[in-house]
Formats: sequence, C-alpha cells, structure tokens
Amino acid sequence: MSGPWLTPVWRQLSSALSQQRFPQSTLLRGSEGLGIEAMAEYCAKALLCETQSGRACNRCKQCQLVESGTHPGVFRLGVEESVKVDDIRRLNRWAQQSSSVGAAKVALLYGAGQLNEASANAFLKTLEEPNANTFFVLLNLETKQPISTVLSRCVQLTVSQPTEAQLSAWLSEQGITVPDDFALYYRVAQGSPEALKKLLDEDKAEFEIVVNAFTAIPFSAEPLIAHISKQAKALDWSLQLLQFALRCSLSNQTSEALSALISHHSIASLQSCHSDLLALRQAQYQISGLNLAQQLYPIFAQLER
Ligand SMILES: [Zn+2]
Repeated sequence: MSGPWLTPVWRQLSSALSQQRFPQSTLLRGSEGLGIEAMAEYCAKALLCETQSGRACNRCKQCQLVESGTHPGVFRLGVEESVKVDDIRRLNRWAQQSSSVGAAKVALLYGAGQLNEASANAFLKTLEEPNANTFFVLLNLETKQPISTVLSRCVQLTVSQPTEAQLSAWLSEQGITVPDDFALYYRVAQGSPEALKKLLDEDKAEFEIVVNAFTAIPFSAEPLIAHISKQAKALDWSLQLLQFALRCSLSNQTSEALSALISHHSIASLQSCHSDLLALRQAQYQISGLNLAQQLYPIFAQLER
C-alpha cells in the first residue's frame, strides 16, 4: 500500500489475509484522501483471488473482475450516494445467498457513518451472524461515527492522518518538489496526501496567485476578488490560508510565505475576515445566484485598512 501512514493498519490486514484469518466484519476509519478505499478494495481482491495466497495476484479472472467492478461476489454500497434501508435489504439478501463453490463474498460498505438507525437495524442481524466466508468491510471516512451497535460488531482499525514530516518525505520520494514553506501547503490541504499532491502538481501556480494577493503590500482586495471570481477553489484556499495565518499569529510562529500578512494585520482583523468569509462560504450553498464579488468586497476591504 502506498503511503507510510497506511502501514500500521495495512500490516494488521495483510497478516490477517495471509493467515486466512480476515475478520468477517471490519470497520476502517480515517479521513478522506488517505487511500483507505484502495486498501479496502485490495482486501476484497485478495480474499477472492484464485491463488488464495493472502495477496491479490492481479492476473487471475477473479482479480480482474473485482478490479473492473463486475465481480458477483463483491457488493458495493454507498460509493456515490448514501445508503438507504432498501439498499441494506438488498445487501442482506445478497449475503444470505450461498456463493458458487463456497467462494468468498465481500461487501464493501462506504459511508458507514451515514447509516441511520433504520438502516443500521436492518443490517445488524446479517452483521451478527454472517454466512461462512462472507466478509463485510465498512468504511467510515466521514466525521460522523457509525451507530454504536454497528461499531461494536466490527474489528475497528483507524488510519491516522500523516504528519507533516511523513508527507514531505513521501512527496520527495515521488519526485515532487517540496516547497520551502511546506507547513502552509500541509494546512491548506488539511493533511490529505491526495489534496496535497494535487495542490503541488496541478494547482501550485493558481494557489501562489492567492498567496501573493494576500501578502501584497499595500493589500488590495481587487486582485484577490478577481481571482476568486474566476477560480472557485481560491475561496477555500483563502479560508485555509487565513486560518493558517491566524494559527501562526496566535502561537507566535512565523510563516515565510505569509510573513507580510501576519505582520501587517492585527489578529482581530484576520479573525473577522476569516469568520465573514466562512459565513459567505456557507451562504453560497444556500443561496443560488449570490453575487460573489459584491459580497467579497466588504470582507476583504477589512484588510485594506
Ligand atoms: Zn488473483
């Protein structure tokens, strides 16, 4: 599995696979962008692989069917939309059917935290008394925890967020240049390896426009608003960037990239700008046709003083 942050959990899973002792109900927890989905998919493949070696050979028919998403022995739920009671009933029926020649069956349940009480209750009996060779892998990548009755029936494994040092080393290994002020990028990507890779690989130039706009002396709202109007992501970057500047100010730390922003503005004005921007971000979801530029002007004008 790629990424050192997966290693502790991966060690446990791969040892269970190779000893043919994979738990019938596993709950994998962690945040998005850590590669937990790929790890769960690999486990499904390894459980079904013709070699039965505890690994996925990636060459046999079973591995290929799992890979293409068409293996009848794999049931995926909640990949794109949240799971409803009817989906769980479908899963229950699938779990009760015996598989061909006793082959393993694997259910991958994404969004385990989204299961409401009715869905969880419908699922409990299947989870409690699974057929032999039927495995349930639940993924909980959202902040909301699954209902406790579901939790208690699973072997729970948590993937921790990688540290700044781990991510910086991982990026270097992949030939990606780690910027001097890596702490800023780490915060903006919220410690997510996938988001960070994208930020450095594809969005770096666009992101730097935002950094430059925030650190220009004197500060002017216009270029920043123009950029946010063109590039939707720039609003989220602005929020993360302000939050990072505040964190540095409050803890008396420096950030090379943001030093002009931190030294020229009071904590109060950074805070006010951040909270107004956050409120606007939320309003965006609720009000359609919001004139963004018009709303942004008074928010950023606070930094012009
Ligand atoms: Zn195989």
